Amino acid sequence: MSVELCGRVRMAIDVAAIRSDFEQRFVERSTEITCSLLALLSGEHALFLGPPGTAKSMLARSLCEIIDGNYFYYLLTRFTTPEEVFGPLSLKALQADSFSRKTDGFLPDAHIAFLDEIFKANSSILNSFLTVLNERKFHNGRDVIDVPLVSLFGASNELPEDESLEALYDRFLFRCVVSPVREEASFRQMLFGSAQDAGSHHRISLADIRLLQEKAAGMPVDTDVEAIILRARRELAAKQITVSDRRWKKILGVLKVAAAASGRASVDRSMVLLLQHMAWDRPEQRADVRDLVISLAITGGESVEKLIAEIEDLHAYLSKSGCGVFPNTIRCYDCDERITSFERLSDHRKLFPQHKYYDPYRTSLHMRILSFHDLLSILSEDYGWNCAEIQPEQIQRSQAEYARLQRRYRDVCLQVVSGRAVLKRQLRDNVWIDDRDIVDLLDRSEAQARFIEKAGKTLEAAGAMIKLLSESGNE
Ligand SMILES: [Zn+2]
Repeated sequence: MSVELCGRVRMAIDVAAIRSDFEQRFVERSTEITCSLLALLSGEHALFLGPPGTAKSMLARSLCEIIDGNYFYYLLTRFTTPEEVFGPLSLKALQADSFSRKTDGFLPDAHIAFLDEIFKANSSILNSFLTVLNERKFHNGRDVIDVPLVSLFGASNELPEDESLEALYDRFLFRCVVSPVREEASFRQMLFGSAQDAGSHHRISLADIRLLQEKAAGMPVDTDVEAIILRARRELAAKQITVSDRRWKKILGVLKVAAAASGRASVDRSMVLLLQHMAWDRPEQRADVRDLVISLAITGGESVEKLIAEIEDLHAYLSKSGCGVFPNTIRCYDCDERITSFERLSDHRKLFPQHKYYDPYRTSLHMRILSFHDLLSILSEDYGWNCAEIQPEQIQRSQAEYARLQRRYRDVCLQVVSGRAVLKRQLRDNVWIDDRDIVDLLDRSEAQARFIEKAGKTLEAAGAMIKLLSESGNE
C-alpha cells in the first residue's frame, strides 16, 4: 500500500516538475508540452501543424533526453528514399541474397522520432511508416523486428490533401496547431533566456512509463465522465466531426494515463478538457470542440442549452393551453383581488373556495359574477384561453415531461452549482490543464449557473401550471 502510494506521489511530482521545466524552456508552448508529454507517457503519436522554426523539434529532442532514448530526426521531401529513414542496405546481407537494412541510428532504432514535413512521405516509405506507427514493427528483409518507438512526432505546415496520406494522419492521436511566439516578453525569454540551453535534469525511465501504463489500465472512470464522453460523441457527430471508435478508445486510454500520472484515484471530469487536443479532424473544428468539451465538463454531460430549450418548450406549450399569464386581469367579486394568471387564480381559490369572480370582459355595464367553475368554462369556450381543452392524456404527458426535466435540472444544478467548488479544485490540481482553459471554464460556469437559475424559474412556473391543470381536470 505505502509502496503503491509512494510510486503515485513520486510520479505526480516528476510530471509537474518536468512540465514547469519545459514551460520555462519553451515559452508559450503549454499546449504542445501537454500533448508531447502525454503522447510520451501513453505511447501515442503527436502532430504539430504550423510554420517551421517554432521549436517543435527541440521539444521532441528534449523529451527524448528525459527518457535517455535514441532520437531520430529527419526532414522529409517527396524524394526521400527508404535508406534515408530506415537505414542503408547491409552489403553482407546482400551477398547472402537478402535485403536487410542496417537500422542503427535510423527510425527503427529510435525511441522518439521527429519527422518534419511528414506528409511529404511518398509511397516507397509510407507503408513501412504505418507499420512502425501502428504495430511498432519493422519488416527488415525476411525478419520482422520490434521497434522501440515510444512516440513519433510529425510536423507539417498543412494537412495532407492526398487520400493515401489519410491513414497516416489518423495515426496521430494528438494534434496541435503551433503558432509563432506572440508576447514580446515570451519572445525575449526565448531569445535571451538561459533556461532552454540548460537541458533537463529530470528523467523518466521506460520502465516507469510501462508501469504507469499498467496502473492507468485499471484506473476507474467517474460516471459523469462517461456521460460526458457519450454526449461529446453525439454532439460531435451532429457537427459532422467524426471520431472513430478506435480513436475514442485511445482517447480514453490517454485520459487514464493523464489521471494516473498526476496521482489521481480516478478519471474525473477536469480531465475531459484534454479531448480538445485529440477529438478534431480539421483545424477549423478546434474552437467548436474546445467549446463543447468545456461546457460538458461544467455540466457533467448535459447540454444546458438543450435543457433550457426543452424547459421553455414545455412552458410555452402549457401557456398556450391557457396556463400562462392571462390576456386580461380577472377580479375577485368578494375581495377585489386582481388576478393575472391561472397560477394566482388557483392559489386564490384554495384560500377562498367560496369567492366569485367578475367576467374579465364584462366588469362595468353588463357585469357577470361567476363561480370558479363557470369562470373556467367561459374563459375556455367564449374567450379561448382556458385549460379545459387539454385532455387528460396531454396532462399526463406534460407531467411525465415535467418530471423528466426536473430530474435533469436537478442533476445539472448539482454539477454546475454545487459541484463548482469540486471542479475548481480538480482543475487547479490538474497539471495537464492550461490556466487559460481554467479561466474560460470558470467564467462560463458562472454564466451557465445564471442561465440555469433562470430556467429553474421557468420550470417552476411550468410545474405550477401542470398542478393547476390536473386540479381543474379533476373538477
Ligand atoms: Zn377573493
